[in-house]
Amino acid sequence: MSELKLCQGTDCHTYTTKDRLKGTKENKTYQTRRRSSFYYGRGNFCSLNCQNDWFSDFGDKAIDHFGRLTEPKHLTEQNAWTKTYDWRANADESHRYYSINGITQEQTPLTEAQFRDTNYTLNTGE
Ligand SMILES: [Zn+2]
Repeated sequence: MSELKLCQGTDCHTYTTKDRLKGTKENKTYQTRRRSSFYYGRGNFCSLNCQNDWFSDFGDKAIDHFGRLTEPKHLTEQNAWTKTYDWRANADESHRYYSINGITQEQTPLTEAQFRDTNYTLNTGE
């Protein structure tokens, strides 16, 4: 059996659902959920509620620790390229892959390999 993870929600144990109630008759407690995987917060939380509880308690500290934005970020022509494709239903016609610039709307054709390469980009800025 794979290792079980604990939900990181700070108040997970306070939600009185049947699945959280553990222990023997005289010793029952509501406990933090323990599962092999969670769907929320990159696998750290059992629910959106628990993710929000964590952020309420620690979000400001986390943002200050990793760097709070003090000025707006800018999406410029140099970093506005995204990859997309036009789907072709016809089997003898391949999908049309291209990069499109979100500012200028300029389009540049891509090979399928360039489209699938997560390192390939026309963006030159951050
Ligand atoms: Zn939880």
